[in-house]
Amino acid sequence: MFSPTDGWVTCALDHRHWGRVGAAGLLVHRAGVDGPELLLQHRALWSHHGGTWGTPGGALHAGESPEHGALREVQEELGLLPADLELGPSSVDDHGGWSYTTVLARPLRDIEPRDLALDGESDGVAWIALGDLASVPLHPGFEASLHRLHDLLSA
Ligand SMILES: [Zn+2]
Repeated sequence: MFSPTDGWVTCALDHRHWGRVGAAGLLVHRAGVDGPELLLQHRALWSHHGGTWGTPGGALHAGESPEHGALREVQEELGLLPADLELGPSSVDDHGGWSYTTVLARPLRDIEPRDLALDGESDGVAWIALGDLASVPLHPGFEASLHRLHDLLSA
């Protein structure tokens, strides 16, 4: 759906980002056998940084909180409902003129990727163990945030 805050912006680090008032994503995590597992989205090839794995999310609307925006995006992209998730802490990656807020969440029910209703922005969704992230191509923004997210995931 079109929003007046949709559009490209160039941040102080000279990246191009989608979302005039910033963006947010939801990092759903659960305890796995070998540590935390993350529910990541394989971004559709046509999208910005297509083919990489990252958190589902997108541009915030004017006046929208990152928590609300992240929940709205996962509902649009994965079909997950607010009642499926318990929100946790968040982490802001501020680039100057643009920021990305990652909101952590735990599932309140079993979430199986094959049961999710994906829209056209995803080629797939999977639970990936934190220790296995090096084996898949990561979205550069997500990769840059990982050191901050590590602390929150192990808390
Ligand atoms: Zn940037």
